[in-house]
Amino acid sequence: MSDKPNEFLDRRDFMIASVATIGASAGLVANAPSASAQGSTHTASSPAYGAASATVYTGDVIQGRKVVSALDVDDLEPGRKHLLYFQGVEMPTGQHWYVSVTVARGAQPGKRVVLVSGVHGDEISSVHTVQTVMNQLDPAQMSGTVMAVTDVSRPAMEGMQRRWPNAGRGADLIDMNREWPGNENGLTAPSRHAGLLFNRLLRPNADAAIDFHTGTTGFEVTAFNIGGMDVPEVKAMVELYPVGQIFDNHVYPGVLHNAFMDVGIPAFTPEIGAARVLDLGMIALFVEGTMNVLKHHGIVAGPMGRTGKDVSVFVGNSAFPILATEGGIVEHLVTLNDKVEPGQKVAIQRDSFGEVVAEYTSGVAGEVTGQRSDAMAEPGNPLVFILFHKDLPDRSETYPE
Ligand SMILES: [Zn+2]
Repeated sequence: MSDKPNEFLDRRDFMIASVATIGASAGLVANAPSASAQGSTHTASSPAYGAASATVYTGDVIQGRKVVSALDVDDLEPGRKHLLYFQGVEMPTGQHWYVSVTVARGAQPGKRVVLVSGVHGDEISSVHTVQTVMNQLDPAQMSGTVMAVTDVSRPAMEGMQRRWPNAGRGADLIDMNREWPGNENGLTAPSRHAGLLFNRLLRPNADAAIDFHTGTTGFEVTAFNIGGMDVPEVKAMVELYPVGQIFDNHVYPGVLHNAFMDVGIPAFTPEIGAARVLDLGMIALFVEGTMNVLKHHGIVAGPMGRTGKDVSVFVGNSAFPILATEGGIVEHLVTLNDKVEPGQKVAIQRDSFGEVVAEYTSGVAGEVTGQRSDAMAEPGNPLVFILFHKDLPDRSETYPE
């Protein structure tokens, strides 16, 4: 920040904008001069929403890596890898949350694919999948660019927990995958962080995007992809993964892959097993599938690896939830990927005396896609999700991605 007067002006403008939008409509908030939120001296040239913006270096260097507050991958030197920090939202101390950005800029021009992990802080196999793909890339041989952002929800990752610990109105935990596309002038840190990342880093550099997830702490899932298979560009990518299940559903607003879809960028969400651990077997399948996607887009040369054609894939468009009705210890009678029939008993639950207090059965024919892995449950906790085909699917189904 070399130009202090401008910085001051930007901040003052922002304060005025903030005051002006109190009590105003969400639309006005969205239209406030969001560039100012970053407190950058270069904001006048930064468009609020996504159009190609020039890279802005803040002048800071952290642990040897340059910091940017906006990035256009085309500004980076071709034929090599670049490691940067993106300056995210400002904290109560006045410091920022930075996220790690790796760009493999091909020697030749081509499509740009964005790989994301760490929107939830406990989903470590998703991080390792993205890192493994990036480590396999040789920019000198590439036509196009792959950008990875591995730790989107930094404060959640520091605690290896799902949600962002927000302090704005006392202790709060916010699920960042309900915040996209965010709002640079939003009322919570995760909303502003999402807005900064989406407008200045993710959207401007994506022709296609993949947001990697896993199950959540206490609830593990099998290997599958979530995406709208009625969208040809999405279907083409999802079918390149040698994994056994596809959840063909658009799920709901606020998730990152739908923020991309809403602005015309094909995107989907892989799910890679359990939270908190590295499932190296599953990770290998998603690395292979993602390399296939990069070949599909012409960024990486070479023959396709195994795809969905090489494994048996169960496609469902709905997830049947089985929720606990009692408190107690849960005993599963089926395992992930098992096929189940309507009426089939899938779990029992015992109270503190060891007596069976509940028996849980499937209401549908399908495949087990997720199971509670914490042994105890209280009423309302999801115990099992069964992927199945519904004749009239919900257009926006809730799923704990
Ligand atoms: Zn997740």
